[in-house]
Amino acid sequence: MPFAAALALLLAAALGWALLRLRAHRRAARALAQSLLRQQPLLREELSGDPGADWTALREAVNDLVAEAARLRQLRAGHLAQLEGTLGSLREAVLVIDAGNRVVLANAALEEIFPRATRILGQRLDAVLRGVDFLNYAAAVRRGAAAPQQEMEFVDGGRSVWVEATGSPIPPLDGGADAWALFVLHDITRQKKLEAVRREFVANVSHELRTPLSVIKGYVETLVDGHRDIPPEDRDKFLRTIQRHTERLNSLLDDLLALSRLESASPGLRHEPTDLAALLGGVIDDYRARPAAVRHHLDANLHPGLPALRLDPLKISQAVENLLDNALKYTPPGSRVFVTLVPRDSEAQICVQDNGPGIPAADLPHLFERFYRVDKGRSREKGGTGLGLSIVKHIVQLHGGRAWAESEPGKGSAFYLSLPLPLADLAKVEPPPV
Ligand code: ADP
Repeated sequence: MPFAAALALLLAAALGWALLRLRAHRRAARALAQSLLRQQPLLREELSGDPGADWTALREAVNDLVAEAARLRQLRAGHLAQLEGTLGSLREAVLVIDAGNRVVLANAALEEIFPRATRILGQRLDAVLRGVDFLNYAAAVRRGAAAPQQEMEFVDGGRSVWVEATGSPIPPLDGGADAWALFVLHDITRQKKLEAVRREFVANVSHELRTPLSVIKGYVETLVDGHRDIPPEDRDKFLRTIQRHTERLNSLLDDLLALSRLESASPGLRHEPTDLAALLGGVIDDYRARPAAVRHHLDANLHPGLPALRLDPLKISQAVENLLDNALKYTPPGSRVFVTLVPRDSEAQICVQDNGPGIPAADLPHLFERFYRVDKGRSREKGGTGLGLSIVKHIVQLHGGRAWAESEPGKGSAFYLSLPLPLADLAKVEPPPV
């Protein structure tokens, strides 16, 4: 065989052998990558084609790594399960986030504050709880530069939720370099709402007091400065104005006191068995004699067959009087005011109806709120405090009942109070005549 042909044969054999080795190495590399991806040990058989002793050492090193990673994962899961078990029984909401702001742990109480935050484990914080302040607070907590507690607002499904967060950095349970953060969250939405109501109430009361007080102050100053020169008829006019505004202050204080007592823990109700028809009949007779009612037609139809109701007669009279006062105040002379009492379902229903100007639909839902007035000028001119209907609502609610209004502008208004009838007597109630 010529030398060149022998060399070519040798080279072809060497190339074939090298290709076989290369394929074995590629197969081994692929098997190694697969094992790392699956986080499972690489079996000896998977290194087929005998890629060499180095590969065996590599396989052993990779298998050690996979086993160590599995051990760490198990340890971490154990720690988290332990933490979860402890935190699950807490009433406070607890949240743990990792260095990448992903939720690692959240207890059941967190869902009570944020009902939409379900299955949040592994999710990014900003995708779960919407509030920029919290992200900034979390960053400050990790840096160790946060205030011990911070109040912040979240928007959860269009609802505003106020939370007081206490955060602290914790060592990372994944063995990473950056700190995790743990937060204890308290829902303070109710307190925040109450604070806002209180602030609004104080602002309203101050406003209501300021007008009569400044009028009184002005006239008193005029009288003091010019008491020698003021003609007697002007002095009389000034004194009457002072008297009117003093009375307004008085009614405001009376209503405020009544309201605060009704809202207190011991509203001082004196329940006694009461014949509601007789009670309302007495109130209406009393009103017919009043000067405010002489230019109105005041009539009633009171169902007499109701069982005695356990209620505070003075308070229920006060509620009905407030409705009658309004019906007389806000309707022109000659209007008709009609009071009815009927059993309806399991309630005694009182209605004070008038054929006055009525109330726009937009105002109806707010009528029973403190200081709400449809026509502010008319209410003040008539000595109204804006608290009458709020007092009515509280009295009725303290009796387990409801108060509401129905009206159509131009067609009059109807104010309803319903009081629960005693269950034991329900069967004896005669239906109202149709
Ligand atoms: P006020 O002291 O101003 O009368 P209320 O709480 O008793 O306060 O009533 C709230 C508002 O409801 C009144 O200012 C008035 O505008 C309106 N209102 C109440 N009753 C009637 C009625 N019968 N007809 C028309 N408007 C009424």
